[in-house]
Amino acid sequence: MSALALPRLGEAANGALRYERHRPEQATLYRLVQQHAASFIAHAEASTGAELPRFIKDEFDAFLECGILAHGFLRLRCGECGHDRLLAFSCKRRGFCPSCGARRMSQTAAHLVDHVIPHVPVRQWVLSLPIPLRVLLAAQPELVTPVLQVVQRVLTRHLLEAAGFKPDEGHGGAVTLIQRFGSAANLNIHLHCLVLDGVYRCGADGAPTFVEAGSPTDDELHALLQTVITRLMKMLTRRGVLVEDMGQSYLAEPDADGEESRTLRPLQAAAVTYRIAFGPRAGQKVLTLRGAMPREDAARQPLCADIDGFSLHAAVRVEADDRKRLEQLCRYITRPALSDERIQLSAAGQVELKLKTPWRDGTTHLVMSPLQFMQRLAALVPRPRLHLIRFHGVLAPNAKLRPLVVPQGPLALEEPTTEAAAAAECVVQTVQARPQRIGWARLLKRVFDIDMQHCPNCGAGELKIIAAILERPVIEKILTHLGLDPQPPPRGRARAVGQD
Ligand SMILES: [Zn+2]
Ligand SMILES: [Zn+2]
Repeated sequence: MSALALPRLGEAANGALRYERHRPEQATLYRLVQQHAASFIAHAEASTGAELPRFIKDEFDAFLECGILAHGFLRLRCGECGHDRLLAFSCKRRGFCPSCGARRMSQTAAHLVDHVIPHVPVRQWVLSLPIPLRVLLAAQPELVTPVLQVVQRVLTRHLLEAAGFKPDEGHGGAVTLIQRFGSAANLNIHLHCLVLDGVYRCGADGAPTFVEAGSPTDDELHALLQTVITRLMKMLTRRGVLVEDMGQSYLAEPDADGEESRTLRPLQAAAVTYRIAFGPRAGQKVLTLRGAMPREDAARQPLCADIDGFSLHAAVRVEADDRKRLEQLCRYITRPALSDERIQLSAAGQVELKLKTPWRDGTTHLVMSPLQFMQRLAALVPRPRLHLIRFHGVLAPNAKLRPLVVPQGPLALEEPTTEAAAAAECVVQTVQARPQRIGWARLLKRVFDIDMQHCPNCGAGELKIIAAILERPVIEKILTHLGLDPQPPPRGRARAVGQD
């Protein structure tokens, strides 16, 4: 079973079967993918002579089925009044689906706050990388792990010192979210580390106590970034990824020349630098629209170091008991790459992607042809099994101190029924960190803002899952009966290159 896309609640009506649902097929992003995905895939494969990786094609397919009742649904019924609700299945993908992305954001943030991050101060350390390294990490995601190890070692060492301890006298802890995109849906792999702002020290009885570290100074931050860069370069050179020549470092030519490197690499490289990957305008920059006044270069921000295209930012700190702000921060750093509101079509059929905040030069929108936009979407899809959340130090899954420091979470309000529990388990599985099971009803309330315990129709009954409807004939029968379209939305066929 899969996570659920929920129909919008209708106003309570008296007994009549009211049915009002969110219609994903009417969103601009859906319609763009529906019309242009096939052309994009054909175009990308024709111009590179290689097959686009399966996981990218699957992502487009799954997105087109996400939230569409004609592909199957769960049926819920109120125990009191018999009110029926249908919940369509969702794609649960991590690439560009805005609704699954938003749901994952809520689940992950709730999980981190309730079950992972202890009640101690937390500082956010953001490390951005120069463009060649972003391209490298996109192409070789296995390098993210050693990169993170370097960063965590440097930060833990710093915190131990700042708290007045020697390297073996205490334990740090952190959660890293590997973010793969910037505000222009450009591929920009960077690291958001939520680091406990101090260290744990064990007493004679083995019980850990937390000792806060002071805030770093700007000079310390600069020195930390310098250390991170030196160690990263050393690590990458040792692995043969960087080549040193005449005192300069270069990226080694990747030797693998498989199908993937021919299709995926140009897509990723183009998405990193805002360029167009294939087609007549290949290599050119995408157009931008300026609707805002250019900003003056902001004065140097506090606690933000920049060296050679790397930057380290550490100004955001959350106090021990400000769990609300912590959850907001967790949501911010796990937010999806795209939201439907930011995508619109111009009268000329071009895609206008609104930036979250205008760039310094006043740019407010990026303008792309639908095919160029599909390239951007494809580059956002993470490789399967690439874990985007990592836990370090006392928060590592096997750390001895972990059970002693993590919060126990709010008490489950109710025991979920077996059937609901199974579904809830599927829902939380979408989070990479494999969180503990959260009660089904509570999860729906918190994440979907859906109240399973109070029927929207009578307000008294509890909603129960009565069936999972997966067979075509049954799906068609029910949807037809409800006056809904029993057929999935049609998909656009691949059009020849040059028609875009
Ligand atoms: Zn989805
Ligand atoms: Zn009811």
